[in-house]
Amino acid sequence: MKNTLLGKTLEELQGICLDLKLPKFAGKQIADWIYLKGVSDINSMTNLSLNARQTLSENFEVGLIPPVEEHHSDDGTSKYLYKYHDNVFVETVMIPDKSRVTLCVSTQVGCKMGCEFCATGKQGFNRNLNAGEIINLVRTLPEFEDLNNIVYMGMGEPFDNYKEVVKSIEILTSDWGFAMSPRRITVSTSGIIPQMIDFIYETQCHLAISMHNPFHKERQEIMPIEKKYPIEDVCDEIRKHNWYGQRRVSFEYIVFKGKNNTYDHAKEISYLLRGIETRVNLIRYHSTPDTALEGASDEEIQRFQEELEGFGLITTIRASKGEDILAACGLLSTKKIMEENRE
Ligand code: SAH
Ligand code: SF4
Repeated sequence: MKNTLLGKTLEELQGICLDLKLPKFAGKQIADWIYLKGVSDINSMTNLSLNARQTLSENFEVGLIPPVEEHHSDDGTSKYLYKYHDNVFVETVMIPDKSRVTLCVSTQVGCKMGCEFCATGKQGFNRNLNAGEIINLVRTLPEFEDLNNIVYMGMGEPFDNYKEVVKSIEILTSDWGFAMSPRRITVSTSGIIPQMIDFIYETQCHLAISMHNPFHKERQEIMPIEKKYPIEDVCDEIRKHNWYGQRRVSFEYIVFKGKNNTYDHAKEISYLLRGIETRVNLIRYHSTPDTALEGASDEEIQRFQEELEGFGLITTIRASKGEDILAACGLLSTKKIMEENRE
């Protein structure tokens, strides 16, 4: 397999040109072709000399790989499944909402974090996606021209693949790349503290933290990462930064039936989040195979929202879109792996 141009920064593209004895300015031309224009073939880069295109083709390919499957839901949500060179499956979800078009991207094939409720976690870890493979998910989206929001909430833990994730953000936000505002990008984490701190300093993107339970003992049972990085420490770290400006931090909270939605949970959440300008997003659980966990009913979720609001917390209930096409994290690729294993 040849090295891909997709996923390279402008500086790297310029370096590649110099290595191949091509003019440095060809690097910017290549960036325009792959990011702005989205060409899939080096031969289409018509402002490069024939010699440059040939030399480049001998060593590189663009690396655009279209989805192998798409599923469209009645509510407008679409789910795309990709198969990469080593036969791994990766998914994205496109969620339209009035003038907002959001894409949920994956960062790993599988995940090491092993959360009890998560289909990706149950797959175990296969490998990291590189920046080019992450950017491919964005650039090949049929709705690319309308895209104005990206959330890193698909398969995998972004901060367990920090370098490639931050590089993909550089490509999304640079003038020579997609020139997106970092305020249009949200990265969700289960709470890996060292990389979370780096992320706060090195990017301007929004941050979402998967809490799901405020109590150390209880959170450990569903999220093994709690043993190493307790949610209390995560919140203490978040409190050290200023979130009053345009940059946001939010907390994700799946409401499980009979597990994490009592008055005491609400009270403890408000204690953990004291002094942090934030909001809590309550999420309906998409049930996954092989777990005893169940989602709470809509009434229970609403009651819990009122409880949290009683403690002064801004709380939203995330509209559950795309349930009929298995929109939750890792469900579609899990189904695909199971199908292929049966064949
Ligand atoms: N690894 C990161 C980002 C990917 S998961 C993280 O955990 O934050 C994105 C969000 O989907 C997380 O809040 C995660 O807890 C949630 N999630 C995972 N499985 C889910 C399911 N079956 N139903 C609803 N939300 C789920
Ligand atoms: Fe990994 Fe996030 Fe799933 Fe946990 S919820 S297993 S961290 S993808």
